[in-house]
Amino acid sequence: MVKKESIEHKDFKEMMQIKNTLQDKLKNYETKIDLLNKEKLSVWKEMSVVNQYFKKHCNHNWGREAYHYSPLRCSICEIERA
Ligand SMILES: [Zn+2]
Repeated sequence: MVKKESIEHKDFKEMMQIKNTLQDKLKNYETKIDLLNKEKLSVWKEMSVVNQYFKKHCNHNWGREAYHYSPLRCSICEIERA
């Protein structure tokens, strides 16, 4: 962990190495985040297919929560009405 106090006596070259290491770490996180977002999107697509089923087959009980502009939501299958 780089802290303000720990860099006081480092030279320029060391600082460039630290900077490069941190940039690599950030790139690594970006790659992981991209992958997680792709996986998440894939699950949302599956969820959409499942919700299509409920849209058709549930005996919906539509209601709204007690806040302004809350969407119509079925209390049984929990899908929202567009
Ligand atoms: Zn329903």
